Amino acid sequence: MVNRTVKTVVTIGPASESYSTIKKMVMEGVRIFRLNLSHSDLRWHKEIIDKIKSVEKVTKEKIVIILDLPGPKLRIGKLDGDKLEIKQGKIYTLGLNGDIPISREILNTLSIKENIKLSDGKLELKPIKRDKDCISAKAMNSYTLLSEQSINQNGLRYPSKYPTKNDVNAIKFGLKNNLNTFALSFISSADDVKKMRKIAGEDSVLISKIERKEGVDNFKEIVDASDIVMIARGDLGLNMDISNVPKLQEKFINEAHQLRKPVIVATQVLESMVSSSIPTRAEADDVFTAVEEGTDALMLSEETAIGAYPLKAVKTLTHLIDTFKTEVMRKAVYIIRSEDDALADVAVKLAESTNIRNMMIVTADGASAFRLSRYFDSDIRLFALTPRVDTFKKLMFGRSIEPFLYRDLNSGIEDVKKYLRNKFKTRKSILVSGVFGKAGSTTKIEIVDL
Ligand code: PEP
Repeated sequence: MVNRTVKTVVTIGPASESYSTIKKMVMEGVRIFRLNLSHSDLRWHKEIIDKIKSVEKVTKEKIVIILDLPGPKLRIGKLDGDKLEIKQGKIYTLGLNGDIPISREILNTLSIKENIKLSDGKLELKPIKRDKDCISAKAMNSYTLLSEQSINQNGLRYPSKYPTKNDVNAIKFGLKNNLNTFALSFISSADDVKKMRKIAGEDSVLISKIERKEGVDNFKEIVDASDIVMIARGDLGLNMDISNVPKLQEKFINEAHQLRKPVIVATQVLESMVSSSIPTRAEADDVFTAVEEGTDALMLSEETAIGAYPLKAVKTLTHLIDTFKTEVMRKAVYIIRSEDDALADVAVKLAESTNIRNMMIVTADGASAFRLSRYFDSDIRLFALTPRVDTFKKLMFGRSIEPFLYRDLNSGIEDVKKYLRNKFKTRKSILVSGVFGKAGSTTKIEIVDL
């Protein structure tokens, strides 16, 4: 069944790299795939891009590919023999020539007041003292540490500058392959986003990943400069006390929606399905909460990239979303803050009171479609027509939105009606529009008899 409400983003990795798995996922309703450029080489990514493009051709479904850039993630250096057996209770040094090698920049950034988390938090070290060239810290657990694993700490401020050389190369790789939807890892400010847009092009679709303290502090300006927001709960939960994550998720979904930008909630959505064929009850509850809070999309990472049940994870998430959507659509609690919000509210009320189940919106930059989708009831279909390719891609992420690229608006409304009549074989619809192609001009609601 095609999932038309909350969208599913699927990360492709070794567990899901085959043409047939990708195709089956598309048949399950997946329209957005993510390639994580922190892993594998560009040749592998190119092969996957080609496979997704041929699935797109065969199924005739439009698909968006996100290239997730590595960003300035902090990592330890190379270990002797590429690994170190860490023993609980033992003291280790972190520094240029320490037991655990780290750069001077990272050394200066770390605080000795908070535990240091290595390998995505699987190893915790409690700092004891700082010397000129190293920090001594006690291992809180035993662990086999490998070269170049990640390093995080609550409240950590990142020393590295945006963009990294790898990010610029990854953008070039994307553009060469006709892809311009990029996820920006560890973004810290609106300036970072603007720099990336300069490199990626004005019509690029930029997804800002909120996962470090500066990203949290500068959330609004970042969202304003971006097209889409990702709440990257993995690193976010390692760069601050984990108890902050649930309330930040709720707050960020709300704030992004006020700026009419779609949101992806990411990481550990169905984590247990990496090795289990069914999710935990707590994971089902997490999905319910995200849907209730109004997220536009949920992302699967390791579940589909390296998990034992990639297709089952997709089916499970789609099933949960389909079940929850009717229970928790939140139009009733969405607050009207502007004339435009009121217009969207009226359009939905009109649909409800007339029992017309199709709504069409013509949108230039997508903002009015995103606004409308917040008020949406699950059994009304929301078709969004746009003449712009970049807007089309953004609309793919929007909750409840079914986007259509419609480039030939020659005779305005008559063209739209003809297109809708042919496409949907439907008669009555509610049409929300303004001046075609002009952002911010949506003012009209009409019942159209096609
Ligand atoms: C995250 O940290 O939650 C995230 C989505 O980023 P990555 O998977 O690249 O670590």
